Order: sequence, then structure tokens, then C-alpha cells
Amino acid sequence: MNRKRLVLEIEGIVQGVGFRPFVYRLARHLDLNGWVQNNGHNVKIEIEGSQSDLLSFAERILNECPLHSNIDKIKKDWLEPVGYSDFNFKDSTIHTDTSSHVLADLAVCSDCLKEMWDPCNRRYRYPFINCTDCGPRFSIIESMPYDRANTSMRIFPMCPDCQEEYGDPRSRRFHAQPIACDNCGPQLSLLDNQGRLKASKDEAIKLAAQAISAGSIVAIKGLGGFQILADARNESTISKLRKLKNRPAKPFALLYPNLSRLKLDAQVSKAEKELLQSWAAPIVLLRPLIRYKGVNDGCPSLGAMLPYTPLHYLLMSELPFAVVNTSGNISGDPLCSDNDEALARLGKIADLFLLHNRPIKIPLDDSLAQVIADRPVILRLGRGYAPLAVTTPKYDTHDTSKILSYGAQERNTVAFGSENILSLSAHIGDLDNSRNWQHCQKVIDHMSSLYSFKPTMIASDIHPDYNSTFLATEMARKLQLPLIKVQHHYAHVLSCMGEHQIEPPVLGVAWDGTGYGLDGTVWGGEFLQIGEQFSWQRVAHLRTFALPGGSSREPLRSALGLLWEGGWREDTGHEILQAMLTKGINIVRTSSMGRLFDALSYLLGLVEVVSFSGQAALALESCCILKDYSQFYPFVISGSGVIDWQPMVKDILEDITDNRPVEEIAHCFHNSLVEMIVEVAQRQNITNVVLTGGCFQNRYLLERSIDYLERNGFKPFWNQQVPTNDGGIAAGQILACMSKKKSREI
Ligand code: ZN
Ligand code: ZN
Ligand code: FE
Repeated sequence: MNRKRLVLEIEGIVQGVGFRPFVYRLARHLDLNGWVQNNGHNVKIEIEGSQSDLLSFAERILNECPLHSNIDKIKKDWLEPVGYSDFNFKDSTIHTDTSSHVLADLAVCSDCLKEMWDPCNRRYRYPFINCTDCGPRFSIIESMPYDRANTSMRIFPMCPDCQEEYGDPRSRRFHAQPIACDNCGPQLSLLDNQGRLKASKDEAIKLAAQAISAGSIVAIKGLGGFQILADARNESTISKLRKLKNRPAKPFALLYPNLSRLKLDAQVSKAEKELLQSWAAPIVLLRPLIRYKGVNDGCPSLGAMLPYTPLHYLLMSELPFAVVNTSGNISGDPLCSDNDEALARLGKIADLFLLHNRPIKIPLDDSLAQVIADRPVILRLGRGYAPLAVTTPKYDTHDTSKILSYGAQERNTVAFGSENILSLSAHIGDLDNSRNWQHCQKVIDHMSSLYSFKPTMIASDIHPDYNSTFLATEMARKLQLPLIKVQHHYAHVLSCMGEHQIEPPVLGVAWDGTGYGLDGTVWGGEFLQIGEQFSWQRVAHLRTFALPGGSSREPLRSALGLLWEGGWREDTGHEILQAMLTKGINIVRTSSMGRLFDALSYLLGLVEVVSFSGQAALALESCCILKDYSQFYPFVISGSGVIDWQPMVKDILEDITDNRPVEEIAHCFHNSLVEMIVEVAQRQNITNVVLTGGCFQNRYLLERSIDYLERNGFKPFWNQQVPTNDGGIAAGQILACMSKKKSREI
């Protein structure tokens, strides 16, 4: 027989997904000899046999690779055989940087669930069952490579049974790092808010479920951190929870025992079902069929999710109704992930704590997503998605810079970039308190150590008052590195271009609440044209108006400023604010689309005060419930690209006086914005149009913009993986640095 030696080098997601055991089993099955080795950034295989066997081996690697692996590249080489007599694992040579993917946490798989519900299985009702296809990853990893000794599972020595499965290449738990069972693994306990043990193991689950049914608030330690659960039907419990959490209005997400129960409360499309049942198991924003008082009042959607850990399955099997699931923190603080910390910080909120003794290395919130034009769109990166690796265009093959970016002030995330990969962190939070500052630093330290990442360049927003800019400046000074400041809306546009690997020319529509402009005004209703070498130019924007008392989220101020600018200057009874406008003192001028939403929401009587960002816009979006309503208001775009909303606001004020239904006004307003996008796109005559910024979390606005751009011959792009809100800014900052290097401006 004519023997050959085949060398395969496989790149992609091949670590921590059971790739080597799969190769081992396949080689054994085909009776081929050689070895497989994990190099951190790739898997290398040498294998000997007849040419046809080797070719079929290589083909089956591609076709049958493990569930969560993703092969980017296979390099093949043929060599003379050396006479291997066995197939085995060769020791790892470890080399890590951002190019080696760290796998996100995975929801429990169906095989493990089957075992968990099987009374004859040794893991019957064991809440931490997992295998190479499922279970914790990123939330337990301390350093690379992904081996048990480098995870928080190292404190649980394996029992002989688990050891055997771990070491057996035929087992589906071969080298499953978090492998555990009731004899050797993590255990549950139920504590009251004084820290007294109430129950353990199965009894803990049953008592926790009974308490929730009876109206108690229960904190539970999930995969990425603590969650707070309460019966969604119980109005008094929900209002108590809002008070204790200091979260007056922001919608709560609901956890359902199963899909069929969920479907009674919300519409679920095929794409939404797939997203709910995906490995990331995010909270998905759905169209509600019924409302729970105090849960999502004034909100166009219902955030819903399904159980994703064995523990959630066990608990929810006792609760045949919707349960509020909110992150375990006081609003605005980082998520609690440590048992003692949770008892100390959440003791006043929760009556009981269902916890376990597997440490969480880095806290991760539940992810938030919705389906737009049949495709998933991630709004908050957390458990299941983070860290997000994005392959970017390779701008310069000789470039070795390593960029650390600090993102924005709100919905802060950080990102790491080198060569043509960027890695975006999970949601950190608003950097307006010291706890979130510390959390931001903790995330940077954790990811730097995982990737052995030493930055050579720091990036930040240009906003001088962002705490993220401050932290970036400090870091650049400490490490004596160049600091690159990137305009906020340019970063938004690049975040979307990078994700879709689009080259210029591009028309970027960047609409959000606020971003530091280059002309002394606050930007937010911007059209940026991205030209050769990623240079950019502001080609159109909303007509500015003054916000009395500074950049504020209070809708009243936006409304007064808008009326004043539009020429409606009669007395409104708000003397101080009007005096500011008259005298032009203590005002900022803004072209913000978010503030335009705020103003109109106020004028329509939908909101008076807001307690969270986007609340006024959500109220306006919730009014868009009519089918095929296509009217819109007039507006004027000047030669210099200033979009004058005055004619639109004039008509809206008349419609309000005439008692036109608010739903019709809301539709006409949204539709007018879509007309503006199409008109600017036609003026600039650029095919690729990027829709980005927090305003495009609005499903009606985004779907209609996509539709109308396509009808008019344009190619719309929108953020899908990298969040469209300020959670995506860090990614845009990395891309700004990478693309500028290409043009040699730095
Ligand atoms: Zn599994
Ligand atoms: Zn065991
Ligand atoms: Fe923004």
C-alpha cells in the first residue's frame, strides 16, 4: 500500500469545543495513526495512511466537526510517512493573543438534559451537569489554555467516575473541563438574607420555588452572576422589587419555564424561537400579547428568555408561570457574582439566596437581543456572546500594534485589537460610579491576562468629560503609549462597517442621544460620509436646537428648546428654563435625534419624567401599532445638509391641537425620519448605507429604513453582533486606529 503523511493546520474556533477528542475518535475509527496537538491559535494534525483514507479523513473533519467549533482555514501539506504506530495527543505549545478565541458560555445541551431527567443516570437532577458541548467557559476561565487547572473548577478534584469519563476519548465528556457530578462537583444551598442555611441540594431548589410562588424575592447564582427572581403576576412583589432595586420604570425581562408557556404571552417568529433556544440563550425582545403590570409598562416589547443552565431548568420545572429575572445589583452598579458580596449587597432586596460554591471568575449579565429583518441583533453583549471576536479587514500586513480601547461613558465596553481581530468585552455599565470604574479595570485585567495582551496604543472617545476618556488618558500616561481619540459617531459607523467588512465609500447614518461634536455642539442626528482611506466628513445633520440647563435627558427641556428654536415662543409657565433660552445662558446646542424623540414624546403627553436612557423614545415607538401606515410630515434639507424639522413639528403641533390619534402622529414622525435617510442617501448617491447608533434599537425605525433604502436601490447595513448603542463604541475605536494606520496618519 502506498502510504502518505498528511499534515493539517486548522484555524478558527477549535479550542474548548471538543475538537481534539473529535479528531482522535475519527482517526481511531478510520484506523489511521499520527497525532493531534493544540497550539492555542490552531490545531495541528499529522496522520498517515493511504491517500484516499487521508482525503476522506480531511473531508470528514470539515463535515462532522463539533457543534461549537468553527473552522476558518485548513492548511494541507503532504509529506513522506515516518511510520507512526498509534494515534495520540501531543503536548500543547501555547501561544495566545486575541487571535485565539475564548469561547463564550454555552446553554446546557439536550443530551445533558436527558441525563439530568433520567432517574437511572448518576447525574439525575444534578444542577451542574455539562459536557464538551455545553456549560460554563468564559465565566470560569482564569488563564489560557482552557484547561481545568486554569478555571475556577480546579478546587473540585474529580471523583474516579468523572476522572474516567474525562480521560476516555470515547466519552462525550472527554476533556470537558467543568466536568462534575454530585459526588465531586459544586453544590447548591439556600440561605436566608441573614446568611443562615435553610436547605441544600434538591431541597434548596424546591424551597426556592415555593418561596417565589408565595411572593418572595429570590436571588439565584446563575452562570455569569446573580439574578433576582420574582413572580411576574404578583403586582405587589414587583413594585416592592422596583423600590428596593431603585429601578422605577426600566422594563424587566421574564424567564419562562418553556417555549409553549412563553408563546401564550408573546408573538414568537421562527427566527425569534431559534434565538431563544440558541446556545447563547439571550433575553429576546418580543411583541407582547399580554401585559404584566409593572413589568414593561410603556414599552413596545417584552423581554423574554428560557432556562439555560441545568439549575434554571430544575427551578423552572416547579414554576409554571412567568418569573421576573433581573440582574443581581442595585440599579447602576455592577452585577454581583460572589456569594458573600451578594449577601452583603442584595440582602435588603432578596428574601432568599439560592447559591452554589463554583466561583465565577468574571461577572456576565444576561445578553439582550432582538430580531430585525429575520436576523438576530445583539443589543447587550453578555453571557453567551462575550467576549465577541470580530474579524476585521487586514489593513496592514506588517502592523504589530496592539490597541486597547476604552469605549464610551454609557453602556461602557472595552475592546482589544491586534492584526485583524478585535475582541469586544461584555457590557460593563455606565461609568458614572466608582464601582463600575473598578469593574472596567477588572475586565481589562482579566482579558489582558487571557490574551497575554500588552497594548502599544490606547484609544478613547474625544469627549473630555467621559470617565472612559479619563481612564484611557491615565493608562496611556502610565504606560507611555500614544492615545488616539476618536469622534463618537465616526466610531459608531466604523463599528458597523468593521462587523460587515465593508470598504468605503459608505454613507453612515449615526443617530443617538449624545456624542461630542467637533463644532462645540452636541451631535446625535448625523450623516457621515466615509471616503478613501476611511477619511470622514459630516455631510448632513439635524438642525440644532438649544437645551436649557445643559445636556439633559429631561424631556421637558428638549421640548422647550425645540419649540423655542422653531419659533413657538409663547409663555409655557417654565420661567427659569425659558429665561435661559431667551438670554442664551446655560444652554448647549444639539443636533441629537434622541433629544428630538424626547421632545416629541413629551409634546404628545407620553412621558413627563424619565428614569432610564431611551425611555421617551420607547414610549413613542410603542405607539407604532398600525398596519401599513405610510404618511409622513414635510421637512427641508438645505444645500449644506441641515435637515430642518420645523415644518414637521409645525404639523405635529397642529395634529395635537386637532386631536389626531397619537398612533397616527407617531407613525408619521417615524416615517418622516425614514424619508430623511432616503433623501440624504440620494443626494450623496452612495450605495452602501450604514444605520447605527442607539436610535436604531427602535425596531420600527430600523426595519422601515432597511425596507425603504432597499426599495430605492441602496444597500443598508446595520449592527448585528456589535451593539448599535454605545456598547459598540469600543469596537469602532479599534477600527479607527487600524484603518488610520493604513493611511499612515499615525
Ligand atoms: Zn452537554
Ligand atoms: Zn464526579
Ligand atoms: Fe452613541
